[in-house]
Order: sequence, then C-alpha cells, then structure tokens
Amino acid sequence: MKTPRNDAPILVTGGSGYIASHVVAQLLQAGRAVRTTVRDKGSPLSVAHLVALAKKAPGTLTLFEADLLEPGSFDEAAQGCQVVIHMASPFKLAGLDNPVRQLIVPAVEGTRNVLRAAERARTVERVVLTSSVAAVYGDSADLAALGKTAFDDKDWNTTSSETHQPYSYSKTAAEREAWKLVKEFNRFDLVCINPGFVMGPSLSKRADSTSIDFMINLAGGKFKMGVPDLRFALVDVRDVAAAHIAAATLAQASGRYILTSGSLSVLDMADLMRARLPRPYPLPKRLAPKFIVWLAGPSQGFSRRFVKQNVGWPLAFDNSRSISELRIQYTSPTKTLVDHVAQLEADGLLLHR
Ligand code: NAP
Repeated sequence: MKTPRNDAPILVTGGSGYIASHVVAQLLQAGRAVRTTVRDKGSPLSVAHLVALAKKAPGTLTLFEADLLEPGSFDEAAQGCQVVIHMASPFKLAGLDNPVRQLIVPAVEGTRNVLRAAERARTVERVVLTSSVAAVYGDSADLAALGKTAFDDKDWNTTSSETHQPYSYSKTAAEREAWKLVKEFNRFDLVCINPGFVMGPSLSKRADSTSIDFMINLAGGKFKMGVPDLRFALVDVRDVAAAHIAAATLAQASGRYILTSGSLSVLDMADLMRARLPRPYPLPKRLAPKFIVWLAGPSQGFSRRFVKQNVGWPLAFDNSRSISELRIQYTSPTKTLVDHVAQLEADGLLLHR
C-alpha cells in the first residue's frame, strides 16, 4: 500500500467478535468510516454494543450481513475500501464433533471468499489477516525439536492436522491460502497479525468466545484443585486491536507480526491475579501432575498426544517486529488479567464454583 488514506472506508469482517469489536471501537474513535460484517444484524448480543459505540464516537459504522461459507457474501461490503481486515473465523478448542466442517472449512473457504471480494473490489490495496501464533507453531515441544529458544515470524506450524490440534491447523491452512492467493492476484499486499492467547476486557456480554470462556473458568474455580502445566503467549485484546490498526494504516507494515506480552503458565496467570485482585477468587494454587493430566486428558477434551507434547514444555516467542515496526507498547499481563476479571464481574458473567 503506497499512501494510506484516512477518508477511505475500512472493512472489518466479523465485527461482533471479541477482538473485532475492539478493532471497530478503536477505528470509530479514530474517526474512520468503518464497515463491518456480522452473520445476523438482528442479534442484539452481536451488534448492540457496536451501534452504541458508533453513537458516541467521531467515526461512522455500516453493518453488512455476510457468511464465511457463502461465495460473494463479502463483495458489497468490500466495494470502495482501501483496506480489509479479515478477522472472522471460528475459534473453538473443545466440544467439536466435526473439526473439518466446524473449523477448517470456514477458516479456509472464508479466507478465499474475503480475498476474492477484495480482489473484485479493485480499490483494495491491503488485506490485514488475523492469523495466530497457532500458524507459527503446533505444540510447545516443537520449540525444542527445532533447537530454538523462541519461535519467530519465519516459523510455520508443521505438526497440526485435521485430527491433532485442528484449530491450529485451520489457522495455518487459512494463512497459507492467503499468502498463495495474494501472490496469484498480485493486486494488493497482505499483512498477517499472529497474536498469542488474547485476554482482557470484552466490549460485549457475549461469553461464547474461547478467551472469555477460559477466563470465566479460571477465575470461577474450574481449576482450583490443580491446573495442567500449560504455557500460553498472553496478549491484551486492546494491544491486538491497536496492532491491526497499525498494520492497516502504516505504509511500511509487511509480513507477519507475532503479538505477545510474554509466555506464562496458567498457574503464573493465577498467581499474578491473586496478588492484585481486590478479593479472593477460587484460583488454582498448584499444578496437576502430568501423569494425572495424561490419564484424565481424554475425558477433559485433551488428547494424550496433546498432553505429551504441551504439558510441562517451555514456550517463548520473538515479538520484536511488533514493537519496532508496529510500535506496540504492551500492556502488562497483570493489567490484562485484572481488567478482564473486572469486566466479567461488572457484566455479571462470573459464576463462582
Ligand atoms: P470470537 O469472539 O469467537 O469471534 C469469532 C468471529 O468469527 C465472530 O464474529 C463470528 O461471528 C465469526 N464467524 C465464525 N464463523 C463464521 C461464519 N461462518 N461466517 C461469518 N462469521 C463467522 O473470537 P475471537 O477470539 O475474537 O477471534 C477472532 C479472530 O482472532 C479469529 O480469526 C481467531 O482465530 C483469531 N485469534 C484469536 C485469538 C484469541 O486468543 N482469542 C488468538 C489468536 C487469533 P458471529 O458473531 O456471527 O458468531
């Protein structure tokens, strides 16, 4: 993209989502003409918070209905845009009966449909794709297997499949498809944002996002008897939104950007929260032994291979390009977690066990 234009409309797919709502909110605050797609414009839980935000902000909001699985569905929304931020994609780690149909097809077909809409629009100069660290690595054990101390933006997930870590596979396949199509179209550039596990306050009361469900479980006491020694690359939802906007508006943004404020175990997160939350929560205080997690894994939705390759392994990422090029100043993990709990409490979404 040669000259970013502030007056051109900008499309965000899946504006009803947890992260996308923050992107829409920050763009509206910046005075931009924002277009966003949702599956159902009539669902108050999906759109009421966006409409309310638009009323108070200097920018404008136009809602479109679109489905990842419907060819041509994003065409109207993309017309006249200079930038498309493609964020809509199912994010589910558990409770899947058919991961191909529920995750992989919508992620890959959706990416094709959105990129084709951008191609047909003729005005689009950049697509920002919300990928994930899940497209950078599959299992934590991959780091040691590669002989590295931290994953970086040149790494690709080569260990996930339709049957092992299917969400990670869906993100890898979708990002690979995007790079392939952009080369084929040769009409606009692609910038990928690869966030770690996103936490922090939500702008809506929806609780079906995996990030929100995880915090409801953690602060609500699901792991109070002991938690598996799993590490995640944490990142604040507000920083992830800011990175998307930087990727959409800085002419020099390019390639892939890993976003994380640091890798923490779930027990580290609980310890940070315990030290700063205003009252006691039923947070875990100890690790569950790996062999117990291995034995119980399948009944809790974790395969034995997942446990073997992820529990107890170190995890680290190089986020330096996000700081030097997108100028992200990371929110501290403690603030991310504490603000998230405060929002869930304020919205009456925490049920203590
Ligand atoms: P979310 O709240 O569950 O949002 C998912 C969005 O995708 C919703 O807007 C949903 O629309 C939309 N969607 C799902 N299936 C669709 C379909 N068939 N057609 C149209 N829209 C569809 O999840 P999120 O955490 O904000 O995730 C947003 C993006 O960030 C995803 O691409 C995800 O892979 C990526 N990401 C998330 C994290 C994280 O930790 N949360 C980390 C890295 C990357 P409806 O409102 O209609 O359901």
